[in-house]
Amino acid sequence: MPDSAAAAAEPRLRVFFALWPDAPTASRLHREARQLQRACGGRLMRQDTIHLTLAFLGDTPVSRLPALAEAAAQVRVPPCALVLDRCGNWHGNRVLWLGPSCPPTPLGLLAAQLGKALRERGFALEKRPFAPHVTVVRNALRPPAAAPVPAITWDVPAFVLVASERGPDGAHYREIGRWPLIKEAAN
Ligand code: ATP
Ligand code: MG
Repeated sequence: MPDSAAAAAEPRLRVFFALWPDAPTASRLHREARQLQRACGGRLMRQDTIHLTLAFLGDTPVSRLPALAEAAAQVRVPPCALVLDRCGNWHGNRVLWLGPSCPPTPLGLLAAQLGKALRERGFALEKRPFAPHVTVVRNALRPPAAAPVPAITWDVPAFVLVASERGPDGAHYREIGRWPLIKEAAN
Protein backbone atom coordinates (compact mmCIF):
# COMPACT_ATOMS: atom_id res chain seq x y z
CA MET A 1 0.00 0.00 0.00
CA PRO A 2 1.44 3.47 -0.82
CA ASP A 3 2.27 5.66 2.21
CA SER A 4 -0.63 8.03 1.55
CA ALA A 5 -3.12 5.13 1.38
CA ALA A 6 -1.70 3.69 4.60
CA ALA A 7 -2.05 7.09 6.30
CA ALA A 8 -5.64 7.39 5.09
CA ALA A 9 -6.47 3.92 6.42
CA GLU A 10 -4.98 4.62 9.83
CA PRO A 11 -7.63 4.97 12.54
CA ARG A 12 -8.07 8.51 13.81
CA LEU A 13 -9.83 10.28 16.64
CA ARG A 14 -10.95 13.91 16.95
CA VAL A 15 -9.32 14.85 20.25
CA PHE A 16 -8.79 17.80 22.57
CA PHE A 17 -7.47 18.54 26.05
CA ALA A 18 -9.94 20.11 28.45
CA LEU A 19 -11.00 20.80 31.99
CA TRP A 20 -14.06 18.75 32.87
CA PRO A 21 -16.31 19.85 35.75
CA ASP A 22 -17.40 17.41 38.44
CA ALA A 23 -21.14 16.65 38.53
CA PRO A 24 -22.17 19.38 41.03
CA THR A 25 -20.18 22.03 39.11
CA ALA A 26 -21.60 20.86 35.78
CA SER A 27 -25.08 21.09 37.27
CA ARG A 28 -24.49 24.68 38.47
CA LEU A 29 -23.06 25.67 35.08
CA HIS A 30 -25.99 24.07 33.30
CA ARG A 31 -28.49 25.91 35.51
CA GLU A 32 -26.82 29.21 34.62
CA ALA A 33 -26.74 28.16 30.96
CA ARG A 34 -30.51 27.55 31.07
CA GLN A 35 -31.08 31.11 32.28
CA LEU A 36 -28.98 32.43 29.39
CA GLN A 37 -30.80 30.25 26.88
CA ARG A 38 -34.18 31.47 28.19
CA ALA A 39 -33.09 35.07 27.74
CA CYS A 40 -31.23 34.72 24.44
CA GLY A 41 -32.75 31.68 22.68
CA GLY A 42 -30.58 29.15 20.86
CA ARG A 43 -29.50 25.60 21.64
CA LEU A 44 -28.49 24.74 25.19
CA MET A 45 -25.40 22.51 25.49
CA ARG A 46 -26.20 19.23 27.24
CA GLN A 47 -24.96 19.06 30.84
CA ASP A 48 -22.69 16.11 30.06
CA THR A 49 -20.88 18.10 27.35
CA ILE A 50 -19.91 21.14 29.44
CA HIS A 51 -16.13 21.67 29.43
CA LEU A 52 -13.35 24.21 29.02
CA THR A 53 -11.02 23.50 26.08
CA LEU A 54 -7.28 23.80 26.80
CA ALA A 55 -5.89 22.64 23.45
CA PHE A 56 -7.72 21.39 20.37
CA LEU A 57 -5.87 18.79 18.28
CA GLY A 58 -8.66 17.69 15.95
CA ASP A 59 -8.32 14.63 13.75
CA THR A 60 -5.34 12.69 15.12
CA PRO A 61 -3.94 9.24 14.20
CA VAL A 62 -4.44 6.81 17.08
CA SER A 63 -0.73 5.99 16.85
CA ARG A 64 0.00 9.58 18.06
CA LEU A 65 -1.98 9.21 21.30
CA PRO A 66 1.11 8.12 23.30
CA ALA A 67 2.83 11.37 22.25
CA LEU A 68 -0.17 13.32 23.55
CA ALA A 69 0.04 11.47 26.85
CA GLU A 70 3.76 12.21 27.03
CA ALA A 71 3.10 15.92 26.50
CA ALA A 72 0.39 15.93 29.19
CA ALA A 73 2.74 14.23 31.66
CA GLN A 74 5.19 17.17 31.28
CA VAL A 75 2.77 19.63 32.88
CA ARG A 76 3.71 20.85 36.38
CA VAL A 77 0.96 23.09 37.67
CA PRO A 78 -0.78 23.16 41.05
CA PRO A 79 -4.50 22.53 41.44
CA CYS A 80 -6.54 25.73 41.22
CA ALA A 81 -10.07 27.14 41.30
CA LEU A 82 -11.79 29.08 38.54
CA VAL A 83 -14.46 31.61 39.36
CA LEU A 84 -16.80 31.83 36.38
CA ASP A 85 -18.42 35.20 36.80
CA ARG A 86 -19.00 36.61 33.33
CA CYS A 87 -20.75 35.66 30.15
CA GLY A 88 -19.94 36.75 26.64
CA ASN A 89 -20.78 36.09 23.03
CA TRP A 90 -18.74 35.22 19.96
CA HIS A 91 -19.51 34.88 16.27
CA GLY A 92 -22.06 37.66 16.46
CA ASN A 93 -24.47 36.49 19.10
CA ARG A 94 -24.40 32.86 18.21
CA VAL A 95 -22.04 31.33 20.80
CA LEU A 96 -22.69 32.25 24.43
CA TRP A 97 -20.07 31.37 27.00
CA LEU A 98 -19.28 31.61 30.70
CA GLY A 99 -15.76 32.49 31.77
CA PRO A 100 -13.57 33.84 34.55
CA SER A 101 -12.98 37.61 34.66
CA CYS A 102 -9.75 36.84 36.58
CA PRO A 103 -8.33 33.54 35.31
CA PRO A 104 -6.09 31.98 38.01
CA THR A 105 -2.36 31.97 37.19
CA PRO A 106 -2.13 28.14 37.12
CA LEU A 107 -4.74 27.98 34.35
CA GLY A 108 -2.62 30.12 32.02
CA LEU A 109 0.47 28.09 32.97
CA LEU A 110 -1.39 24.86 32.26
CA ALA A 111 -2.41 25.99 28.76
CA ALA A 112 1.09 27.35 28.07
CA GLN A 113 3.00 24.27 29.33
CA LEU A 114 0.68 21.90 27.53
CA GLY A 115 0.85 23.93 24.31
CA LYS A 116 4.64 23.99 24.42
CA ALA A 117 4.92 20.25 25.09
CA LEU A 118 2.50 19.53 22.24
CA ARG A 119 4.26 21.82 19.74
CA GLU A 120 7.62 20.24 20.67
CA ARG A 121 6.11 16.92 19.60
CA GLY A 122 4.99 18.30 16.28
CA PHE A 123 1.31 18.95 16.99
CA ALA A 124 -0.15 22.03 15.33
CA LEU A 125 -2.28 24.19 17.60
CA GLU A 126 -4.21 27.33 16.91
CA LYS A 127 -2.14 30.49 17.28
CA ARG A 128 -4.77 32.68 18.94
CA PRO A 129 -4.02 33.38 22.59
CA PHE A 130 -5.74 31.09 25.10
CA ALA A 131 -9.15 32.54 26.04
CA PRO A 132 -10.65 30.35 28.78
CA HIS A 133 -14.39 29.92 28.26
CA VAL A 134 -17.16 27.37 28.61
CA THR A 135 -19.57 27.34 25.64
CA VAL A 136 -23.09 26.94 26.99
CA VAL A 137 -25.45 28.01 24.17
CA ARG A 138 -25.13 27.69 20.38
CA ASN A 139 -27.13 29.56 17.74
CA ALA A 140 -28.38 32.17 20.20
CA LEU A 141 -30.76 34.77 18.79
CA ARG A 142 -29.82 37.70 21.03
CA PRO A 143 -26.69 38.80 22.92
CA PRO A 144 -26.63 38.32 26.69
CA ALA A 145 -27.40 41.25 29.01
CA ALA A 146 -24.34 43.17 30.12
CA ALA A 147 -25.17 42.35 33.77
CA PRO A 148 -22.72 40.10 35.67
CA VAL A 149 -23.72 36.48 36.19
CA PRO A 150 -23.74 34.77 39.60
CA ALA A 151 -20.20 33.51 40.27
CA ILE A 152 -19.68 29.75 40.03
CA THR A 153 -16.51 28.34 41.60
CA TRP A 154 -14.98 25.38 39.77
CA ASP A 155 -12.23 23.47 41.60
CA VAL A 156 -9.73 22.01 39.14
CA PRO A 157 -7.76 18.98 40.36
CA ALA A 158 -6.94 17.50 36.94
CA PHE A 159 -7.19 17.88 33.17
CA VAL A 160 -8.36 15.37 30.59
CA LEU A 161 -7.87 14.20 27.01
CA VAL A 162 -11.20 13.73 25.28
CA ALA A 163 -12.35 12.09 22.05
CA SER A 164 -15.16 13.97 20.29
CA GLU A 165 -17.61 11.76 18.43
CA ARG A 166 -20.52 13.05 16.36
CA GLY A 167 -23.95 11.66 17.15
CA PRO A 168 -27.40 12.55 15.78
CA ASP A 169 -27.89 14.88 18.77
CA GLY A 170 -24.52 16.63 18.45
CA ALA A 171 -21.04 15.89 19.73
CA HIS A 172 -20.48 13.22 22.38
CA TYR A 173 -17.28 13.28 24.38
CA ARG A 174 -15.35 10.32 25.77
CA GLU A 175 -12.53 10.75 28.27
CA ILE A 176 -9.45 8.83 27.12
CA GLY A 177 -6.85 10.20 29.55
CA ARG A 178 -6.65 12.12 32.84
CA TRP A 179 -3.71 13.83 34.56
CA PRO A 180 -3.77 15.31 38.07
CA LEU A 181 -2.47 18.84 38.57
CA ILE A 182 0.65 18.63 40.70
CA LYS A 183 3.23 21.26 41.47
CA GLU A 184 6.35 19.09 41.60
CA ALA A 185 7.44 15.82 40.05
CA ALA A 186 7.05 12.91 42.48
CA ASN A 187 10.45 11.51 43.48
P1 ATP B 1 -19.84 20.27 17.08
O1 ATP B 1 -18.64 20.81 16.34
O2 ATP B 1 -20.17 18.87 16.72
O3 ATP B 1 -21.02 21.17 17.06
P2 ATP B 1 -18.23 20.80 19.42
O4 ATP B 1 -17.74 22.05 18.76
O5 ATP B 1 -18.63 20.86 20.86
O6 ATP B 1 -19.45 20.18 18.65
P3 ATP B 1 -15.75 19.71 18.56
O7 ATP B 1 -15.87 20.49 17.26
O8 ATP B 1 -15.23 18.32 18.51
O9 ATP B 1 -17.14 19.65 19.30
O10 ATP B 1 -14.83 20.60 19.50
C1 ATP B 1 -14.41 20.15 20.77
C2 ATP B 1 -13.97 21.35 21.57
O11 ATP B 1 -12.85 21.98 20.92
C3 ATP B 1 -15.03 22.44 21.69
O12 ATP B 1 -14.86 23.09 22.94
C4 ATP B 1 -14.69 23.40 20.57
O13 ATP B 1 -15.10 24.72 20.87
C5 ATP B 1 -13.19 23.31 20.55
N1 ATP B 1 -12.68 23.53 19.19
C6 ATP B 1 -13.15 22.99 18.04
N2 ATP B 1 -12.44 23.39 16.97
C7 ATP B 1 -11.47 24.20 17.46
C8 ATP B 1 -10.39 24.92 16.86
N3 ATP B 1 -10.16 24.89 15.56
N4 ATP B 1 -9.59 25.64 17.68
C9 ATP B 1 -9.81 25.67 19.00
N5 ATP B 1 -10.80 25.01 19.63
C10 ATP B 1 -11.62 24.29 18.87
MG1 MG C 1 -17.04 22.24 16.76
